[in-house]
Amino acid sequence: MLFNPKPKEDPKDLFDREKEIEKLRFGINYPMTLLLGIRRSGKSSLVKVLMKEEKGIWLYLDLRKFESSAYISYKDIIQELEKSINTSLPERLKKVFAGVKGVNFVGVNVIFNWGKERIKLAQILDKLSEIAEKEGERIIIIFDESQELRKLKGVNLLYPIAYAFDNLKVRFIFTGSEIGMVYDFLKLDKPDSPLYGRAYTEVNVPPFSKETSLEFLRKGFEEFKIKVEERELEDAVNTLGGIPGWLTYYGFNYIQEKDHEKALNKTVETAISLIKKEFNNFLKGREGAKERYKTIMTVYKNGCKWKEAKIALEAKEGVRIDDKRFTQLLNNLVKASFLIKEGEIYKPTDVLIEKAFS
Ligand code: ADP
Ligand code: MG
Repeated sequence: MLFNPKPKEDPKDLFDREKEIEKLRFGINYPMTLLLGIRRSGKSSLVKVLMKEEKGIWLYLDLRKFESSAYISYKDIIQELEKSINTSLPERLKKVFAGVKGVNFVGVNVIFNWGKERIKLAQILDKLSEIAEKEGERIIIIFDESQELRKLKGVNLLYPIAYAFDNLKVRFIFTGSEIGMVYDFLKLDKPDSPLYGRAYTEVNVPPFSKETSLEFLRKGFEEFKIKVEERELEDAVNTLGGIPGWLTYYGFNYIQEKDHEKALNKTVETAISLIKKEFNNFLKGREGAKERYKTIMTVYKNGCKWKEAKIALEAKEGVRIDDKRFTQLLNNLVKASFLIKEGEIYKPTDVLIEKAFS
């Protein structure tokens, strides 16, 4: 069902995106793939469909749960890995961890120690690679919403990842909604970073075009044998834009409400409150600049140049703001995908973000 609001897993529920799937298929032949697109563009759906379609041993780590945390500990990551190993690996493959220092078994499940005798991430990756060699299979680890990893305290994940990149049969997919933050975390272009200069495949997941959005809705309604007027579909796409998640949610609401206006209003309301919540998560750890970030979003809601917004912010605060500082604030909003820069103009990433700040 196209209007199922959960991430799609079944290839036949995934609309369009043949190109993106093809690129991902190519990418997982190599150590590292980045899958980037704004929130609800369909990244999780793409990787889940790929997991169904492509042979390999897949480990899926959902990091979205850390969205509202100010930081993540080593324990959090190790436990996520432990969970994915326990769900994905059959019993006989988990045995490779038997006897390794810092690993215990409860029943058939591995338990990683994160205390004093803790297991190192590189060791876990080593063992996974050993499985891959033995089985003649590839092991693919997905870090879904990998920008959250930048909050990891006390350990640098990039070293074990670089080690795996160079020596092991492990492949990584890093997905991210906050695209600039993913680059910030991986530091691929920073000469002093462990991952500097490594080759990778980048797959972008853009919103649907207007025509594709309309086609998505038509096909979704067809599945329910419901005929919706073209005029209403147009209205939905004009109001919601091309983000698959919002279109899906509109369809889902329509099936229940059987009424265009009601379904659309409900979708917009939900979208705005979710966007606000996500913005509040962004503000966590940035307490000192909260009001400034809010003002900047409000000023840019219709799109404008760097200078215009700076002047507006200064007018509001009644003080001059340092150019560098202003650029930094602005860049953080771009990195978190609340704003995008097109030519000289900064504007909200999509129409619903624009609405959320109106
Ligand atoms: P992301 O991981 O990028 O935030 P999801 O994969 O969770 O996005 O998708 C958001 C919503 O949109 C889900 O309900 C999903 O089912 C739907 N969706 C996204 N892309 C597609 C697609 N290509 N075809 C059908 N439904 C999609
Ligand atoms: Mg996702």
